[in-house]
Amino acid sequence: MRVSRTEGSPESQGWPTPSTGTVPWPATATGASTADGHAPLGVTEPGGPPSPRPVTAEAEPAVRLVGLTKRFGSLVVCDRLDLDVRRGEMLVILGPSGCGKTTLLRCIAGFETPDEGAVEIAERVVATPAVSLPPERRRVGVVFQDLALFPHLSVAKNVGYGIRRRPDRERRVAELLELVGLAGLGDRMPHELSGGMQQRVALARALAPEPDIVLLDEPFSSLDVAHRTRLRFEVREILRRAGATAIFVTHDQEEALTIADRVAVMVQGRIAQSAPPEVLYETPANPFVATFVGIANLVPGDLDGRVARTPVGQIALAAGSPHRLGHGLVLFRPEQLQAEPVDASDGRVVPRWRIVGRRFAGSEILLEVAGPDGLRLWCEADPAARRLQMGDPVVLRLRGERTVAFSLGSRGG
Ligand code: ATP
Repeated sequence: MRVSRTEGSPESQGWPTPSTGTVPWPATATGASTADGHAPLGVTEPGGPPSPRPVTAEAEPAVRLVGLTKRFGSLVVCDRLDLDVRRGEMLVILGPSGCGKTTLLRCIAGFETPDEGAVEIAERVVATPAVSLPPERRRVGVVFQDLALFPHLSVAKNVGYGIRRRPDRERRVAELLELVGLAGLGDRMPHELSGGMQQRVALARALAPEPDIVLLDEPFSSLDVAHRTRLRFEVREILRRAGATAIFVTHDQEEALTIADRVAVMVQGRIAQSAPPEVLYETPANPFVATFVGIANLVPGDLDGRVARTPVGQIALAAGSPHRLGHGLVLFRPEQLQAEPVDASDGRVVPRWRIVGRRFAGSEILLEVAGPDGLRLWCEADPAARRLQMGDPVVLRLRGERTVAFSLGSRGG
């Protein structure tokens, strides 16, 4: 591991913007990074696009945060945070507003200096309280919330800005425009493009100098839902084809779960859990994560190590369950509970649940039902229950095979 010496202070204490005339990511990284096995970014090989770089747990991480702490006065914004990002991985940092996501990215990019701990990028220590490599020397690409395209430069000049001293600049810009689906539009000015196209220009510009890591800070927050949904998949695919390593910050859990290889849930300056989306959803580490990534019904139950017994039925405890014995809160996702209409002719069925809420989401309908001991649960409507109304009785069927439980006092975070 190499240790970088301090070489001047960061050019800017904020994200650079065109209006200040600062350079997003100057062309310091002129060499291709193929020596370490990276595919050249954005290069389309004969016979089709390059295969995505495999994400391997064993490889040295592209980014490593070790005990990172950042304070503003008495406010601890990043709190002894440890995190690895693997090469080729799309890591999404998901957390509520104000939990420290942007500050974390700014520490990686070089716009903030940590108070404790270290930032390593591609096995170089780039920041400690005593050492800070300036942003333009960190080989980091950034896509901002507000695009920060240069309005007076053409699309091609925006994309090529960070590599303007490279002799192969024109070819590289053409490759990148092809990669982001804007081939032939290099002469357009930014204002002649839609918001989504502008975002793709910003991404191409960030990828141009072949950075070791691309940081994306809520890049779609200014777009409407339809564009946002489409663009998130496009950007994901572009990054995958480029073989880029990326950290993507959002407070939108649906966005996080749909695009991430791995999601790190951040709360109050710490990483509460980091795991692939399915693992996070099915085996959250605590009630905070459970409720932050999807709808969570937390039902009191008795646990015997293998099985949880609850008012909605008995269910096996998953291997990753944080709590297994005694009393606990048992997690049921809405799709694990199905509401069915009560057959009035069957006198044996005594309805214990009534509909008190309803959410129509097109292909599915979620019902909130109230039952014994004041329990209120969100569940999926059986096809026959889609037309039921508020106040109608239902029976609940347990569909899930296994779940997790938390201790009664746990809140997480
Ligand atoms: P959001 O999703 O709303 O953008 P975030 O998770 O990205 O939030 P940060 O922007 O990192 O959160 O801010 C975390 C906390 O640090 C906030 O309380 C914010 O007010 C505070 N903060 C951020 N930058 C500074 C600064 N330069 N000086 C003082 N306080 C700051």
